[in-house]
Amino acid sequence: MEFLPLFHNLRGSRVLVVGGGEIALRKSRLLADAGAVLRVVAPQIEDQLRELVLGSGGDLMLRGYQEADLDGCVLIIAATDDEPLNAQVSSDAKRRCVPVNVVDAPALCSVIFPAIVDRSPLVIAVSSGGDAPVLARLIRAKLETWIPSTYGQLAGLAARFRAQVKGLYPDVQQRRAFWEEVFQGPIADRQLAGQGDEAERLLIEKVNGAPPYAPGEVYLVGAGPGDPDLLTFRALRLMQQADVVLYDRLVAPAILELCRRDAERVYVGKRRAEHAVPQDQINQQLVDLAKQGKRVLRLKGGDPFIFGRGGEEIEELAAHGIPFQVVPGITAASGCAAYAGIPLTHRDYAQSVRFITGHLKNGTSDLPWQDLVGPSQTLVFYMGLIGLPIICQQLILHGRAADTPAALIQQGTTSNQRVFTGTLADLPRMVAEHEVHAPTLVIVGEVVVLREKLKWFEGAQSQV
Ligand code: SAH
Repeated sequence: MEFLPLFHNLRGSRVLVVGGGEIALRKSRLLADAGAVLRVVAPQIEDQLRELVLGSGGDLMLRGYQEADLDGCVLIIAATDDEPLNAQVSSDAKRRCVPVNVVDAPALCSVIFPAIVDRSPLVIAVSSGGDAPVLARLIRAKLETWIPSTYGQLAGLAARFRAQVKGLYPDVQQRRAFWEEVFQGPIADRQLAGQGDEAERLLIEKVNGAPPYAPGEVYLVGAGPGDPDLLTFRALRLMQQADVVLYDRLVAPAILELCRRDAERVYVGKRRAEHAVPQDQINQQLVDLAKQGKRVLRLKGGDPFIFGRGGEEIEELAAHGIPFQVVPGITAASGCAAYAGIPLTHRDYAQSVRFITGHLKNGTSDLPWQDLVGPSQTLVFYMGLIGLPIICQQLILHGRAADTPAALIQQGTTSNQRVFTGTLADLPRMVAEHEVHAPTLVIVGEVVVLREKLKWFEGAQSQV
């Protein structure tokens, strides 16, 4: 091991930074975050750096470096682009046995800055010993995605009970078991879901020796339109901890793959006009499984609150007092539009966008056609494949120009994505000429021409 990782308490201690530019600013920010009192020496100092130094209660020295600047400092940073000067600062510091860091010169350093994941009080440091800082940063980025931003609050919660638990369980094994249960069970779940008060209440119960509290919970999670890269961090985390997964046809297999390996999987269908499991039975199943103490993942295509009947499901859960959390997903309109190169709004073409169900219950009568033909609005029809001829015909009949651009996107964001563009007058015929597979989304409005203008092509998204 070339460098031993240590965490340095700098609060109230003076740190010297030699240099007044961008890099000095970056290092100084970190030091100020850790509570250091900054001393910055440079002939010229950037305004932001000045403010930072004064804010830290430190001193600015607008001149060249002198060895005496090291006096009283517990850590030295050389951040200039003058190599001989950096080397001088390093040797002065080493002679005085004060830790020194020279930016981008590992050989001159006695200490180095790691890449940091900050979930204070939990802090993770990653270092390559200065050999491959980019690699360390990439690893940090991976850790950032694995560790929810609320982890710090979880550590904070544990800190508040640490002494009490230590008193309760003098034996270290018992104590470890106690905290493992806390960090892997419903208490951590609540805290990570932002329900700090509830987490604290449960922890108090646990400390007071209440019987293990193991309520089930339902995660209503939006899985996005198809590309697994479009999942949110929270969705992925809950997918990996749920005991049982109830999913629809719309959830792509590649996404289902990411659920915990040993989780039970239940297909609850939902094909147009063919509901494999009726909605009230799905609701009931969620309630029953949660009552058995299971962590139930209700995984839905797109966003659960957009044509997803998510509202009905949580109504039922609320009626039974079952805890739940809802995780938004990228809805088909956003995903398909982005991957097809069609901005849904645009200063010159559309000032509003509407998401509409194209599932026409009574033929034509149940959509407010008159409202849909106004200028400068983009219309997005979900579930509009079967009704496409009627939708286009009604829009024209009610006054939207027959040459209004329109697009149909099949299996948007997946490797099977296909996009058909035309006008209200000819899109239905174009689509009828091809074998089109569900799910499909229809976008109507002038913004559709931007796809041509942007010279968008299939796969463009994966090229950028
Ligand atoms: N909750 C989902 C929508 C459910 S309704 C969401 O927010 O996206 C089902 C309809 O969504 C489908 O009929 C289709 O119109 C649309 N849809 C979902 N995923 C799609 C995809 N990958 N490509 C095109 N349309 C999609």
